[in-house]
Parts: sequence; C-alpha cells; structure tokens
Amino acid sequence: MHEWSIVHSLLDEAERCARSRGAHAVHGLHVRLGALSGVEARLLETAYAIFRAGTICAGAWLEIEPVPARWACPLCRVELAPESGLCCARCDAIARLESGDEIVLARIEMEVADEPAPRGAGAGEVV
Ligand SMILES: [Zn+2]
Repeated sequence: MHEWSIVHSLLDEAERCARSRGAHAVHGLHVRLGALSGVEARLLETAYAIFRAGTICAGAWLEIEPVPARWACPLCRVELAPESGLCCARCDAIARLESGDEIVLARIEMEVADEPAPRGAGAGEVV
C-alpha cells in the first residue's frame, strides 16, 4: 500500500528532525496533503496509527491538512478554475498544476530538553 511507505518516510523525517534538535518526545505532526497526491487521508491515518508504535512519534497526533488542487496558466499566470477545462480562456495554453500534488511534513511539535547537558557540554554537537 502506497500510504504505508509515505508514513514510513514521514516518521523517518520526524525522527531525524527531532534528533537533530535534541528533542526527547514528539507531540504531533502536521501534514499537508494535496488533493491530487494520490493519497487518501483516511488510509494515511490508519497506516500512521500502526507504524508510529515503537518510534519517537508513538504518542504523537497526526493532523492532516487537505490542500485543494490549484491550476494556473503558465503564460498569463492567472489562476484557472477546474471547470475551465484546464485551458486558459485568454491564450488557450494548457493549465499547469500550481499546488495539490504535494505531501509535506509542514510542522513537528516536539519537546526539547532545556536543561543543560549533565556532562561534556558541547560534545558531539556538530551541525
Ligand atoms: Zn493564458
């Protein structure tokens, strides 16, 4: 299932991000999901509920923000309604997809320890 591999890479990205900032817990993930991404939000939620177990996101919520498809004329730069037949009324150019096919991990809510490191201050913190 397509959604499973997407969840897998979302979790990977969240974990990498959390580690790089020294977070010890992730509270939630905010994902922008395009209407034309080919991914169903419901299936994504189901896959997430299964795969988050045992990861740093085990207790984290998943919020999915649907992103509608937006088309525009590549020449006039005007936005075109989907009902326009995806051709520009002014110049007849074929519309180009501006947004709506993305799957983006837009925000991660995490808890970062603000206590100073117990020993070896600054050790290993190479970014
Ligand atoms: Zn045009």
